[in-house]
Amino acid sequence: MESLTPVSLVHFYDVRSRRIACGVRGADLRSSKHPRQVTCEPCVALIGERPQLGAVPDEAGSAAGAAP
Ligand SMILES: [Zn+2]
Repeated sequence: MESLTPVSLVHFYDVRSRRIACGVRGADLRSSKHPRQVTCEPCVALIGERPQLGAVPDEAGSAAGAAP
């Protein structure tokens, strides 16, 4: 039962490091900046370990209105 086709895999594109999260490289890869669209298991696992990877920058920018 090894009929897996990597064609449909969608990797997570890390906009901060400007590369695919799981580190795979290739010219014919599919990637997305939206965690919900990612199907690559290593990428999904990385997003799970680092929620900020898939977080919208605006949410992390709450410090803009909070003076220490
Ligand atoms: Zn991946």
